[in-house]
Amino acid sequence: MKIFTMKILYIVLTAIVCTGGLAYGAGEDASRSNAQVVSDYSVDVIVIDPGHGGSDVGAISKNGLYEKDITLKIARSLGEMIREGLNIKVFLTREVDEYASLGARRRFADKMNADLFISIHANSSEYISISGCETFFYKKDASDEQARLLAELENKGGMSDDDDLPNPVEFILMDMANSELIQLSYKFATIIQKNYVSGVKSPDRGVKQAPFMVLMGARMPAVLTEIGFLSSKKDERKLKNYGYLDDIAKSLFKSIKRYKSVTDTKNGKDKRVETQ
Ligand SMILES: [Zn+2]
Repeated sequence: MKIFTMKILYIVLTAIVCTGGLAYGAGEDASRSNAQVVSDYSVDVIVIDPGHGGSDVGAISKNGLYEKDITLKIARSLGEMIREGLNIKVFLTREVDEYASLGARRRFADKMNADLFISIHANSSEYISISGCETFFYKKDASDEQARLLAELENKGGMSDDDDLPNPVEFILMDMANSELIQLSYKFATIIQKNYVSGVKSPDRGVKQAPFMVLMGARMPAVLTEIGFLSSKKDERKLKNYGYLDDIAKSLFKSIKRYKSVTDTKNGKDKRVETQ
């Protein structure tokens, strides 16, 4: 079930414009509008986005390990696990090694009526001692300079001429309706980080925010997760191991399952709250 529809959004825009409440944080008007558009927290459809692909290879390790290959391997394994183990429809933005713009990935999630979106990436840094996992949700302002630079880098490879940003009206509305989406995205990102620590024992670099284009304007809770640093010898050793990539997929599967159980409980579908 989608969280909101564009039809409702346009009605909300009209109401907001008429009441002169366009400024963010315009108080009660905005809150009421949000309450009108949020209808259901269910996760019935998930879109998994293996970062990069085709000519956009992403980060490359010293020994020639490509980010685009790692992300596809994890996404495929995760997709299989969800198909077999959860009552959720799952789609990948790409199934093979091919280019897809960031806009196309976002549009695909909309087309599939996704209730949850996860973009999978591997990191790189000029500081080779940095290692570990981190997960982001969208915000115009990055948590710190490192997060800003990372978003800039990740955005660079996936922009194309047909890459449409949300139109201005759409964007204003999404920004306003976003507080709930941000909270849910933050919740999902927190669960992901927790499971990395307990599952693959990766150093926890935490939950952060940054302006990733692939997440911008998402109409559903959406995160981008960085599963390790290809610039780190330690992480590279792990990331070239298929067993480790499967462990990452298992960890993400557990996180999706947990997030679904939290939202189902919120919907009153399932009163049992699973323990982590
Ligand atoms: Zn990437």
